[in-house]
Amino acid sequence: MPRLGVLGWPVAHSRSPAMHNAALVALGMTDWRYQLLPVPPERFAETVRALAGAGFVGANVTIPHKHAALELADMASEAARAIGAANTLTFAPDGSIAAENTDAPGFLAALGVSPRGMRALVLGAGGSARAVVWALREAGASEVSVWNRTPERAHALADDLCVRAVAVPQVADLLVNCTSVGLEVRASRLKQSASGEQGLNLPAITFDQVGNYPYVVDLVYSSATPTPLLLAARSHGARAVGGLEVLLAQGALSFELWTGRQAPLEVMRAALD
Ligand code: NAP
Repeated sequence: MPRLGVLGWPVAHSRSPAMHNAALVALGMTDWRYQLLPVPPERFAETVRALAGAGFVGANVTIPHKHAALELADMASEAARAIGAANTLTFAPDGSIAAENTDAPGFLAALGVSPRGMRALVLGAGGSARAVVWALREAGASEVSVWNRTPERAHALADDLCVRAVAVPQVADLLVNCTSVGLEVRASRLKQSASGEQGLNLPAITFDQVGNYPYVVDLVYSSATPTPLLLAARSHGARAVGGLEVLLAQGALSFELWTGRQAPLEVMRAALD
């Protein structure tokens, strides 16, 4: 049985098995399975090296393993090397491991418009911010600024990827939230505060300031409700893209790498609802 999976720690919350198994069934690939692979950091390398022998064709990689995945791969794409992280591993019959990063092209696909010539502000300096910054730069954004709660990390990312770290969020055409803020927050949190300003749980940006960005992407996803940032963006009339669309787009690219088949996007999207 050809097998696929997602390596993470923790990983129980992952929506990837539902999305990929729905795609496999829709394409009649009923002998294939995609499963959760909960693996702690200290067992990551030995587990990954054993996967090909256990029938695995490929695996997605999520927190906290994306950098380790790149390090142990026998070959890596230019994107994965430049970003410094891999979210997709492919196992060849000879046991060799190839690393790819589909977070970057997945983000661009979900954005749905070319960022060429746009000024972009990225919040966050973790693994997903690196992929987004690299993608924006490669796709021709005219200026990419990075703000992070811990400024040193923003400066390190900016130096690595030749963009600009900022101490205060700048007005731009596109705002991308790559912090983990907003994960478990429900829409009911978006209430009128005593100061008369809508309470947005994001650091450094208020509800009103979200109106400065005509395009907004929130990488954070929640199944039940849009995140507070998406609600704010929509109420300002911005074109707003949620994290589930980014998850879908990166997953579809991984699926196509492993199977050589066109990913059934609508089936996968429905499985995420
Ligand atoms: P990460 O490497 O752990 O980075 C987390 C980032 O969030 C850091 O910049 C951190 O700032 C910031 N942060 C955390 N708590 C904060 C707070 N209370 N206030 C301000 N900033 C805070 O994580 P990641 O892999 O980049 O992922 C970030 C988010 O994107 C997660 O929610 C993840 O689920 C989501 N994501 C979604 C997709 C998708 O397909 N939709 C793909 C990848 C990631 P410091 O440096 O100051 O700690």
